[in-house]
Amino acid sequence: MPPILLNSLPEWPEKVARFCVRIYNRCTLSRANFKLLISILRRFSFRFAVPLGALTLIAFASLTLPLTRVALTADRQQPPVVLTEQQLDLLILHGKLVDGSGKKPRTADVGIRGDRIVFAGDARKAHLNAARTIDATGLVVAPGFIDPHTHTLGDLSDSNHQSNLAYLMQGVTTVITGNDGSSVANIGETLRKWDAQGIGTNAILLAGFGTIRSRILGATDAQPSAAQLEEMKALVARAMDEGAFGMSTGLYYAPQSYAKTEEVIELSKVAAAKGGVYDTHMRDENSYSIGLLGAIKETIRIGREAKIPVHISHIKALGPEVWGQSKQSIELMKKARAEGVDVAACQYPYDASGTSLEAALVPRWAEVGGRGELLKRIDDSTVRLRLLAEMQDNLKRRGGAESLLITDARDRQLIGKRLSVIASERKQSPVEAALEIIRTTGGAGVASFNMSEKDIERFMKEKLVMTCSDGSTGHPRKYGTFTRKLREYVYHRRLISLPFAVRNSSALTAEWFRIPERGLIREGYFADVIVFDEKTVSDRATYEQAEVLSVGMKYVIVNGKLAIDNGSYTGALAGRALRKQVQNRER
Ligand SMILES: [Zn+2]
Repeated sequence: MPPILLNSLPEWPEKVARFCVRIYNRCTLSRANFKLLISILRRFSFRFAVPLGALTLIAFASLTLPLTRVALTADRQQPPVVLTEQQLDLLILHGKLVDGSGKKPRTADVGIRGDRIVFAGDARKAHLNAARTIDATGLVVAPGFIDPHTHTLGDLSDSNHQSNLAYLMQGVTTVITGNDGSSVANIGETLRKWDAQGIGTNAILLAGFGTIRSRILGATDAQPSAAQLEEMKALVARAMDEGAFGMSTGLYYAPQSYAKTEEVIELSKVAAAKGGVYDTHMRDENSYSIGLLGAIKETIRIGREAKIPVHISHIKALGPEVWGQSKQSIELMKKARAEGVDVAACQYPYDASGTSLEAALVPRWAEVGGRGELLKRIDDSTVRLRLLAEMQDNLKRRGGAESLLITDARDRQLIGKRLSVIASERKQSPVEAALEIIRTTGGAGVASFNMSEKDIERFMKEKLVMTCSDGSTGHPRKYGTFTRKLREYVYHRRLISLPFAVRNSSALTAEWFRIPERGLIREGYFADVIVFDEKTVSDRATYEQAEVLSVGMKYVIVNGKLAIDNGSYTGALAGRALRKQVQNRER
């Protein structure tokens, strides 16, 4: 006898319905016999009119008959098998639910079955129980965070780092990588590899413009012929068909910096036709070439002409010369949005960026042709003078030698020192010392202290600015972005609200990057869920010690599986390589 679904009787008073369903479901009679018994009892009650017995029987019969009918009708319609007490895999009880929509927190239970969220509400009222329950009293329950700009490509493919633990501990359950125009030649193969070996978070790839351009044109500053442009377009198309979510560029970096806007537009059109987005580390965030505002205008133009949503990665006003331009940057973006260009941005909550000494100081003309050519120019005494002079200007743009901290280098002695200190130790000017490091050891990673808090805060308050880490070796942002934003900007400074911070770290990113069924706590969505303690959630990584895991994430669930359980990593590799479902808009 199949059990009856309690909520198939919604119009009955709940207590009565529960009582009857219990009796019915525990009855071992067949349905036909049950029906017969009821009718006999009913007849008996009329014939003998025993007052008390009759009343009881009538009451019982009148309740159970329609119930039997319900069961029979339901049976004829081949109902799904449903239980009186619905059994789930995981129930998170009594949490403060911040669901990603931006709405106020509410107390609610969240139920998970398989890889999906199947319930958000009052589990007791809905008669739910689960194989595992988590008491989230006093804790925040939120959608897993989504990071739209990471450099996790290497980690995810590496069997020692595939868990992506630095991100899981921040509550990040999905990362996008292949940003800055730097990705892999074979998108499909990488996604398959991740699926086969297992990864700790979900991961999304972008097609890298730099990767594609270098393949066709090398490290030169050459402009593509019509045929070469077609080759590049075919590579973008192939990447999209293999599952890339869009195309990324890093127009600040050589050799991408040699591409004209028109070339980028042509390739972006290919991504747009397949439903992809455009993500960019802009040509300039400072005053190196076209300036911060010029670069925002270029990005908007690409969006308008290629008809593609455009995303400004790690938006910032880099360097004293452009401090304050966050205001005009936001105005430009808002104006473009009003005109129909879907422009958005992301940001990490730190006042230092992370890059290489070479990218920060060496002018792009000196990098044409790659490292071999750069070394020749350094060794040429006349070119060297011009190089040093321009590097001096760039150092000023960055805020001086004191503002560059070496975070990664082959010469380990340099790590943790400011360029100013290295220069005085070597009795050289800072740019001479920098050039020497580039020439002899292949360069170094730097934290470049170049942002003003006013600009950081102004960008952060914007509805269309997501959270992204841009995580790289040696910079604390890889280990602390999302938890630092909560600790510093939500709880300490109270600059933004918790629902706003959560939304801009989850649902907004999912919506904007067209990642289906993630980013919200909603029935039917994938069960990427985090549970954290507001009192303790925090980053721990610093510029001095950049690789320290965040704290405060009590539970992190990826596709329904616990990756972090009571603060500790479970060893689960529950992430998936996500693929864009390409819908060709071409005819
Ligand atoms: Zn970047």
